[in-house]
Amino acid sequence: MSARYARVFWVKMGVGAYIQVPFCQTKCTYCNFHTGVVSSARFAPYVQAVCQEIREHRELLGAAGVKWPVQKAGGTASDEAAVDTVYIGGGTPSLLEAQGVQNLLDAIRASFRAELAEVTLEADPETIEAGKATAWARAGINRVSFGLQSFSDKELIAAGRMHRRADIYRAAPILREAGIRNISVDLIAGLPHQTKESWEESLEELESLAPEHVSVYLLEIDEGSRLGREVLQGGARYSAGALPSEDEMADFYEMAQDALRRMGYHHYEISNWAKPGYESKHNLKYWRREPYLGFGAGAHSFSGGERWANAHDPAAYVNALEGGRLPVEQHEKVTSEQALEEEFFLGLRQLDGIDLARIEQKYGVKLSAKFDSLASAGLIQREGSVVRLAPGRLSVSNEVFVELMR
Ligand code: SF4
Repeated sequence: MSARYARVFWVKMGVGAYIQVPFCQTKCTYCNFHTGVVSSARFAPYVQAVCQEIREHRELLGAAGVKWPVQKAGGTASDEAAVDTVYIGGGTPSLLEAQGVQNLLDAIRASFRAELAEVTLEADPETIEAGKATAWARAGINRVSFGLQSFSDKELIAAGRMHRRADIYRAAPILREAGIRNISVDLIAGLPHQTKESWEESLEELESLAPEHVSVYLLEIDEGSRLGREVLQGGARYSAGALPSEDEMADFYEMAQDALRRMGYHHYEISNWAKPGYESKHNLKYWRREPYLGFGAGAHSFSGGERWANAHDPAAYVNALEGGRLPVEQHEKVTSEQALEEEFFLGLRQLDGIDLARIEQKYGVKLSAKFDSLASAGLIQREGSVVRLAPGRLSVSNEVFVELMR
C-alpha cells in the first residue's frame, strides 16, 4: 500500500481509542483478566499516567519503536485521522471518580482530532449513582456498557459478582435520567446454577429493561480462574459442580437468539445484538481490522501493519510513564499470513460475513474451493462472493475456524 493511499485510508476510516482501567472491587470466580483489587488511592495516579500516555503518545510510541501512521511527515493536526470512538473498559472503570473519567476524555480531545460519535464506559450496576452518572454524561459518555451478567441472585452470588438483581433495577433508571440513551448489557450463558428456567427468566427481564444493545457471552472456563482451578482439581467453593453442560450452553445461546430476534434486535456479531442503528461502532473496528490505539496497563493497539501491547502490571506501567517511557511488552509486525487468518477469525464473527473476492484479491490467494467444501459440510453459507457462518454453527464457531485453517 502506498504511503499516500495509507493516509487517505486512515483519514477516512477514523480511529478508535481504548482506555483500560484494570481495577475491580473483587475478583469474579470465572475471571482470568489482568485486573486487580487495589486501594482507591491508586486510581488517581493511574489516571494521571494514562492521561500522560495519551498526551505524549506520538513521542512515547516513537521511542518504543512503534509506527503509528496517522499523520504525514510535517503534517498538522488537521491531517490526522480523527478519533471517532472511545471505549473505557476494564476492570470496572465506573469505580473511578467522575473527575477521572472527565480527565481521560479531556486528554483525548486535547491530543487528537476528536469527532466522538460513540463514547462508552463500562459500568457495574452496584457502582452507579446519580451524581456520577450525570457527570459521565457531562464529560461526553453517551453509551454505557452495563455488566449485569444475570438477573438471578443465586447465579450472581456463585459467580462472585458484587451486584444483585435489585441493583440492576436501581441503576438503569439512573443512567436514563442522566441522559444515557445507549445502554448495552452483558449476559453470560453458562454460569453455575444456571438452568433453562433461570435463563428464560433472565431473557424475559432483559425485555423489560429494554437496552439498545445486548452481548451474550458463553462462559469460558479458564484454568487461571478460581472456578477453572476448581473444575480441574475438585472442590465445592465456587460451584464448579453446578456448571451447565456444553449442550445446555448451546441451548441457552439458541434461546437468546430466538428471544432477541423476537424483541427486535439485529444479530450482527456472534455475541452481539443491537436495536437498528445501535451496533457498537467501536467494537466493529476490531472485527473489521480498523486501526485503534489502546492506552493504559495491558491495552492493545493495532495500526493495520503492527500490533502492540502495554505491560499488564499497573504499577510497572505507572512507574515507566513517570520515567518518561512507555512499557510496550509485545510488539509485532503483522505478516500477510497472520493478516489473512485475522480476516477469517475476526471477519466471520460478523453475521454479514466476508467478501471472498476482496480477500482473494488483497492477499493473492485462491480460496473458493476450500469454502465450497466448507459449505458442503454445512459449516458456512455462500452467496456469490460473500461467505458467512451457517446460522446453526454460531455457537460452535471455534470448531468452524479450526476446520477453516486445516
Ligand atoms: S468485574 Fe469483570 S474484570 Fe472485574 S473481576 Fe469481574 S469479570 Fe473480571
